[in-house]
Amino acid sequence: MSATIIDGKAFAATVRGKVAEHVTRLKADHGITPGLAVVLVGEDPASQVYVRSKGKMTVEVGMTSVEHKLDADTSEADLLALIADLNGDPAIHGILVQLPLPGHLNEDLVINSIDPAKDVDGFHISNVGLLGTGQKSMVPCTPLGCLMMLRDHHGSLSGLNAVVVGRSNIVGKPMAQLLLGDSCTVTIAHSRTKDIQDVTRAADIVVAAVGRPEMVTGDWIKPGATVIDVGINRTDAPEKGEGKTRLVGDCAFDSCAEVAGAITPVPGGVGPMTIACLLANTVTACCRANGLAEPEGLTA
Ligand code: NDP
Repeated sequence: MSATIIDGKAFAATVRGKVAEHVTRLKADHGITPGLAVVLVGEDPASQVYVRSKGKMTVEVGMTSVEHKLDADTSEADLLALIADLNGDPAIHGILVQLPLPGHLNEDLVINSIDPAKDVDGFHISNVGLLGTGQKSMVPCTPLGCLMMLRDHHGSLSGLNAVVVGRSNIVGKPMAQLLLGDSCTVTIAHSRTKDIQDVTRAADIVVAAVGRPEMVTGDWIKPGATVIDVGINRTDAPEKGEGKTRLVGDCAFDSCAEVAGAITPVPGGVGPMTIACLLANTVTACCRANGLAEPEGLTA
């Protein structure tokens, strides 16, 4: 293996440390404590784990964490009423509705009912538009985390060829916008892209956000390129015992690491950065709401 491992776990700890420092200053200098409200509807086990982990880290950086756990059959009207309350609550600076929502709830309607200034996931249509037009917005956490790691590794990204594999609204498209904002030459590849290996092999940066275990292999990668693996896939791991599983990315780690110049592992790469960026977005939202200077290095 020749690639440098980009340690997302360590980087995320640094980001959380910067957030905590800023929270301390906000409290000491202005008497303000940033608050994050997380809304969970239903009992999806993975969502419950994410929400618990978000709440724990929110408290660790000194912010207020408020959790609203609603029954799976909660009506849309009740959910919208809760969001309206949170929108009007001056102690809450960030609102996150954990996705996916149960099928009877309209996700677009719910997300677009959040005050865009408190939309720390960056999914509100206003924030999507602001990002697309290069204006100040709340930026989706996972792509923001990828951007931070790329900036840290490369310094300037200007002029680099970047290929984003995946065109979802949550990862692929905002990732491409952010890379464009940093003056990369950006290509978005997806399930209909022809000769996709040739496309990725031309890239200085490959961001894989596909949801297919170990799809990207070393022969897709230009020697020396940087590989950011967003994928989180659980696969069978019979070598660990009957019924055991392991987490893998969208990139075959060993094979890509033979060729790449740098690569993020799974786990321990993009995943920890996502929650760190949620906390960063909350402190940013708090500063904006109070007309205060934003923390440096925590926004796009
Ligand atoms: P989506 O399913 O919404 O999008 C997947 C994208 O991959 C689609 O655009 C799809 O193309 C494309 N795709 C699927 N198959 C292929 C293929 N064979 N070749 C090329 N492109 C393909 O997924 P998300 O963007 O939400 O998530 C992607 C991955 O990232 C998942 O593993 C998810 O778990 C992980 N994730 C990780 C996060 C983290 O914190 N680390 C946060 C969010 C997601 P098309 O549009 O043509 O169908």
